[in-house]
Amino acid sequence: MKKKILIANWKLNPLSLVQAKALLSAVNKTKSKHEVVICPPYVYIGLLKTKFKLGVQDLFWQDSGAYTGQISGPMLKEFNAKYAIIGHSELRAIGESDHEINLKLQAALRNKIIPILCVGYGVTASDTEEDILFNIQSQLANGLEDISKENLSKIIVAYEPVWAIGTGKAADPEHAERVAMFIKIKFKISKVLYGGSSNADNAKSFLEKSHIDGLLIGGASLIAEDFKKIISI
Ligand code: PEP
Repeated sequence: MKKKILIANWKLNPLSLVQAKALLSAVNKTKSKHEVVICPPYVYIGLLKTKFKLGVQDLFWQDSGAYTGQISGPMLKEFNAKYAIIGHSELRAIGESDHEINLKLQAALRNKIIPILCVGYGVTASDTEEDILFNIQSQLANGLEDISKENLSKIIVAYEPVWAIGTGKAADPEHAERVAMFIKIKFKISKVLYGGSSNADNAKSFLEKSHIDGLLIGGASLIAEDFKKIISI
């Protein structure tokens, strides 16, 4: 298996720095041949030590100014953030638009932070592949508007069926592979990840697929033993 990208999205967890450090120190001891990226909540990012890469779960589209409550690319660079998750469905669900996502992608690229653009659709596992492709095509066309060819090659896309996130029910790896191929061919994206209830039991079946370049992992990244199994595949 070639080197893959494994992104841990800790979301709004753990609740204390002590717990965050404990989780990371358990994981730090594990060897991995993959690019492992830990995305903790912002407040922990300067306080965690890891041999793996650090990322964040969002960033603001302006670099500085009168924007109460925001965190920008230059600030994150100072704390060694190499990756930023952008357009996660949990933010889209509370109103984040494709236009905002596009501005955030540009902010990440401007600050040399690798964007992980999340796209996905589907409230139930019974949505047709045609509907899914139609919807993610629109998310990608709008989100990637005016991004140069050179910058497109730096963006990683994560395909995350909404019904699979946090539900314990992952998508069929064959379906994820077809969607990954579609994204690569149609949008000239070079790396596509899968996300949605991936865990220690099913990770290999996704990572074996040649067009799936890695995983975006939520729940299982908070369980040290499970995450260790995934990164040591
Ligand atoms: C996610 O939040 O992007 C995600 C994939 O979560 P989970 O692995 O818990 O489904």
